[in-house]
Parts: sequence; C-alpha cells; structure tokens
Amino acid sequence: MRRVYLDYNATTPVAPEVLEAMLPFFAGDYGNASSIHAFGQKCRAAVEGARDSVAKLLGARASEIVFTSGGTEADNLAIFGAVSAAPLPAGSSAGERKHVVTTTVEHAAVKSPCEELERRGVEVTYVPVNREGRVCPEKIAGAIRPETVLISVMLANNELGTLEPVERIAQFAAEKKILLHTDAVQAAGKIALDVNRIGAHLLSISAHKIYGPKGVGALYVREGTQLDPLLFGGHGGRDGRPGTENVPGIVGMGKAADLARMQLAEGSPRIAALRDRFERGMLAAIPLVRINGCCAPRTPNTSNLLFPHVEAEALVIALDLKGIACSAGAACSSGTVEPSHVLTAIGLPMPDAHASVRFSLGRYTTDDDLAYALDVIPPVVQRLRSLNPQWRDAAVAEKA
Ligand code: PLP
Repeated sequence: MRRVYLDYNATTPVAPEVLEAMLPFFAGDYGNASSIHAFGQKCRAAVEGARDSVAKLLGARASEIVFTSGGTEADNLAIFGAVSAAPLPAGSSAGERKHVVTTTVEHAAVKSPCEELERRGVEVTYVPVNREGRVCPEKIAGAIRPETVLISVMLANNELGTLEPVERIAQFAAEKKILLHTDAVQAAGKIALDVNRIGAHLLSISAHKIYGPKGVGALYVREGTQLDPLLFGGHGGRDGRPGTENVPGIVGMGKAADLARMQLAEGSPRIAALRDRFERGMLAAIPLVRINGCCAPRTPNTSNLLFPHVEAEALVIALDLKGIACSAGAACSSGTVEPSHVLTAIGLPMPDAHASVRFSLGRYTTDDDLAYALDVIPPVVQRLRSLNPQWRDAAVAEKA
C-alpha cells in the first residue's frame, strides 16, 4: 500500500546526510567528549562543530548554545532555570510571589512546567489568544506585574502553525527588563530564525523536528542570562548541563541545522505552495471544511482542517488504513479523548475541536503524495459523515 506521511510536526525522518554524519560516532569514534585523549578530543571537536552549526542556524554565538535531551528539556531548563535564578524584582513587596506570563496555546513542554511552577507557589498568567491562535502583544504587556520574572511565548504553534508576535513582545519585555523565552521547536527549519532580531533571551529547538535524531535539542541562552541548572552531575557541564554528551545525537543535530539553514530559502516556498494546493483542493472537494488559523501568519507546512460532523480520531484511523498519516490534536495527546487545549483556546466549540485534524507537510512531501491525499481524503470524509446521523439529518434539512 502507498504510504504518505503528513505528520511532519509530530516528527521528521532523519535526513540521509544526517544519518551519514552520525554513524561514525556510534562505533569507531566512540570517545567521551570530556576525555583528554585522542578518542575524546575527536568527539569534543565534533560536538563543538555541531554547536557552531546550531548557533549559525539561530544567528547566535556558539557559547550561547546548550545541548539538551530535546525540546522538552530545553523548555524546562529555560522556565525552571530562569524562574529559580531570578530575584524578586525591585519594587515588589516582601512576601510577594514570583510571576510568569505565558499563553493558553503553549505546547505541553511549556504548559506543564508552568502548572508545576504554580504548584510550587509561583503565579502564572495564561494570556488568551484570538480565533487564529495569535496572542495580542499588548495583552502580554498588560499582564506584566512588578513581580514578573519571565515571559514565555512560543514562536510557532505546533497544531495550527500560527506564528506569534514574539518580536513585539520582546520589545515590551526589554522595556520592563523581563526575561523572554520562546519555544521555537516548530519554527526552526520552517522560517528564518535570528535571535537578535527576535529579541528573546532564551529559545528552544529540537533536532527531530528538523530532520535530525530524536532525543536531542538545544537551548539558546543569551550571554549574561542567569539560569539555574536543572540537572546536577559530572562530565561536560561546561555549559551548565551536566552528563556525558550524546555525541552522535549532537553531531546529527549539527548536520540537521546546516541542512535546515541551506534549504530554507528554496524549501519553504515549495512546501507552502504544496500546502496551499492541498487546502484549495480540500475546500473544493469537501463541503463545510474550514481551516483553523487560516487568517494568521503561519508556518508554511501546517494545515489544521475542521471537518464538521466527522470524528477526528475516526478520520485519522480511517486515513491510516489508506496509508495517510496525520494527527488529531497534538501528537503527544493522541490516544486521549480530551480535545486539544489549543483548539478550545481559539474558541472552537467541543464538537468542532473534536472534528479537527492536522496535516503537516515536509521536505520529502511530493506532488504525487499530495495528489494521493486529495484523491483519498474526500471519499473517506464522505463515508464517515454518511455514518453520522447528525450529518444525515443536516443533509436532509438542507435539501428540504
Ligand atoms: N515544543 C513544541 C512546540 C513541540 O511541538 C514539541 C514537540 O512536539 C516540543 C516542544 C517538545 O520537543 P521534544 O519532542 O524534542 O521533547
């Protein structure tokens, strides 16, 4: 059976060039990057080369890159590390609690740490977004208090692709001298990133979203930013993150970062054109389909479609049986019946949140893949609807 992968926001395949770069570090070049002998030094050089590559992707300095076990750890390190290191700002009264500002559409890797902060006595404000999933920068500014020590707003939403106005938020953060973290896991490799233009102090990325391996990520920490460590231990630790470095993974991330930087200018418009063609095809072939987040600036690859009177989980399963991989809600919440918090945050009523499916395209999506998807999806939607009594009633009412 033909298989078409339209779930690049969940993860990407490792690029062949990345695999090739990693392979020597599993067997022949197996040294510990902290060892002073030749085995170790070869690995140290490879890790530092990868640090340069990641820094280049972000417009940062190599000394500002901390390798982590992925986007989740990068987000946790940014949030717990910054809040723990921050003194209560001058002007806040004694006994006042530290305060964090974030949004209602963050990935679980930011949302859950914020909820944990609340359990630990930190106050958190979750600023709502509009129907496109975009937060108003002035609302973020309005949520700032004297005790605010951190703002965390994602750059690109994993479910909708919506881009958040982080640059504008950075201006407010700078005026108030508050640290700004942005989760750029879904932005890296899809839009150009430059930490100096964005203006964030902390920025998270993950290798497996940019055709690198799973279990590796990086946090950009602007020089001079105070961050307490999450982990304590030996080895490495020169960048505040102890533990023997995952040399093959880091090398893979470096290669993936190089490819992402080189392919962005050509790849993004190609993928955007495919995505737009996909959406036009869907709108033309399937009655009542809507695009969630369509009116906001979006990453070029993401299409979140609402199919009224279709159960999203059922559609994902039915399409999987036809070889098409897509997702209902965030990948990490698949399998649960809870609707996605992002879809409810943009104001979708429950039935609509349960009828939304994310298709995400990528580097290896072809015209033929798209033609197959456009062929297969409309009849599957039609069949699922025909099994839904509400749809049948709606169709009868329409005819009458
Ligand atoms: N942040 C966002 C926006 C994501 O989409 C993801 C993964 O889906 C993460 C963080 C977590 O990254 P990782 O899977 O590398 O832990």
